[in-house]
Amino acid sequence: MTDQLTLIDPEPPRLTERQQVALEHLGSNQPLTNDELGAFLHEARRAGGGSGHGREERCAYCAAEGGQMGRRLRELGYAAYRRGHGWVVAGTPLPPAVARGGYDPAVAPFPKGF
Ligand SMILES: [Zn+2]
Repeated sequence: MTDQLTLIDPEPPRLTERQQVALEHLGSNQPLTNDELGAFLHEARRAGGGSGHGREERCAYCAAEGGQMGRRLRELGYAAYRRGHGWVVAGTPLPPAVARGGYDPAVAPFPKGF
């Protein structure tokens, strides 16, 4: 199995440690919006001794930095952006669309007169 993967993708793009951490976080928390991804990065930076804040907080740079990270991961082929949802790991199928106004036999009433 490992040999096969090696043949398909002999040299995947290298990720920085920060990108790797962001990708792992994305994998278990997707989809993430720009500011959610940025807030995670700021939390991770604080954990590493730098400036930052908790994941539930937002600063003026969360959205910008999250968007930057998302776009970089997309360039490298690791992430994708789903409109209306946010960043996901590349190859993640779209969540099932919510049917609006479509006929659903499970909830549709019998026509009047029957
Ligand atoms: Zn922030």
